[in-house]
Amino acid sequence: MSTDESPPSGDDEERNRRLLDETEYDTELGLEMGRDAQRVSAGELSELEFYRRYHDRIVEEFDIDDREIDLPDPDEADPDDVGFLDRIGSALEGIDPDSDESRRSVMKKGAAAAGAMGLAGWGTAQNAAGQGDGGGGGAGAGGDEGEGTRWGMTINLNNCDGCLACMVACNQEHNLSRGANWMYVFAFEDEGQGDETNFLPRTCQHCTDSPCTKVCPVGARHTREEDGLVLTDYDICIGCRYCEVSCPYGVNYFQWGEPDVPESEVDDDHQIDDRGRWVGSRPPEGVMGKCTFCVDRQDGQMGEEKIGTTACEEACTMDAVHFGDLNDPESPPNQHLNEYRDGQENDLSEYPNRKGHTASTFKLMEERGTEPNVRFIGNEPSPHAEQVEGPVAYEDVGLTDNRKEVLDEGASATQGGESA
Ligand code: SF4
Ligand code: SF4
Ligand code: SF4
Repeated sequence: MSTDESPPSGDDEERNRRLLDETEYDTELGLEMGRDAQRVSAGELSELEFYRRYHDRIVEEFDIDDREIDLPDPDEADPDDVGFLDRIGSALEGIDPDSDESRRSVMKKGAAAAGAMGLAGWGTAQNAAGQGDGGGGGAGAGGDEGEGTRWGMTINLNNCDGCLACMVACNQEHNLSRGANWMYVFAFEDEGQGDETNFLPRTCQHCTDSPCTKVCPVGARHTREEDGLVLTDYDICIGCRYCEVSCPYGVNYFQWGEPDVPESEVDDDHQIDDRGRWVGSRPPEGVMGKCTFCVDRQDGQMGEEKIGTTACEEACTMDAVHFGDLNDPESPPNQHLNEYRDGQENDLSEYPNRKGHTASTFKLMEERGTEPNVRFIGNEPSPHAEQVEGPVAYEDVGLTDNRKEVLDEGASATQGGESA
């Protein structure tokens, strides 16, 4: 994407520094750890080395190190580093998460500001036509089928017409404040496609190897074991924004002010998941939010019939969004991908927004090793893609998109629920 109109990205060092400077936590630690967390996902750094590299500094800053790191079995630890396991143990004994030592005493050092949000580095992944995640539904590049449930999506860009209905539905269902667009639809023009406007709906990718979970010092950002959802425990989050700067996809929205929808108007059923953790609906002030793949639906709190559905999918009348269990070959995202590959590669005429698309599939920035659980059908944006006005203005459907304003001003936006 071009630089002048691009939204700030998870890879934008200057923006990340500014963003972390607006908290009272260690900016350098957040920047360095965010970069290295991405290297871990990319296979360039081991989880153990990552843990060791930052453990002492994290404990010094946060009095705890509760990152979601895949540490080696103690029995397999390096015999030459006897003190390492002791250090881990003592660090984790540090704080009782229910005590006054937890979130509120450590946090709220005045985190403020906002920014715009976006997606950078897109178009860098290899076009994965006929490769990668096979119709069987594996999320990994090899198409491995896993056990249990793994929620994910197939989004067919050939069908999307940029109507923004998915964004509106998401914002309403999750009581999001203006500017917090957990679902975001990019409109862009790309080289080789003339003046055609293309669209790319973007949620959290619910990465299987997510940098954001590796950097959260207090364990608020975590992967739900039962179904792979990447969630934020609002009771634990201290608003350090480290997850935000580690995410290559720019999907995190920091709720720095009072949410537009007060707590009294949000039903507990939509906030507390089946483990009893506060991970659903909009976050409270000072806490990070992002797409949850409608965790309350998946837990049956909106009725059995809503399990395996999302608000954006339900709102899309163009058959672009397909949600379901990627481990189930018969799930909607896998079925749609199979149908597309099996019968329609050569007959794109029935796709309303085809624009000469090829029958390619891709995951965003797949080469980063994050293993996204969102797959796309259609043309991947090239590095030369430029964001343009879409056919429907955000303001016309009650939404706010302040990304360009923030870029131009190079400073904080001011409304509650701003994105960053
Ligand atoms: S896309 Fe979502 S799961 Fe992946 S790194 Fe970003 S916030 Fe984490
Ligand atoms: S979830 Fe909260 S505590 Fe964890 S890294 Fe993100 S902002 Fe910091
Ligand atoms: S509702 Fe469907 S067609 Fe409309 S912008 Fe969202 S994904 Fe595209």
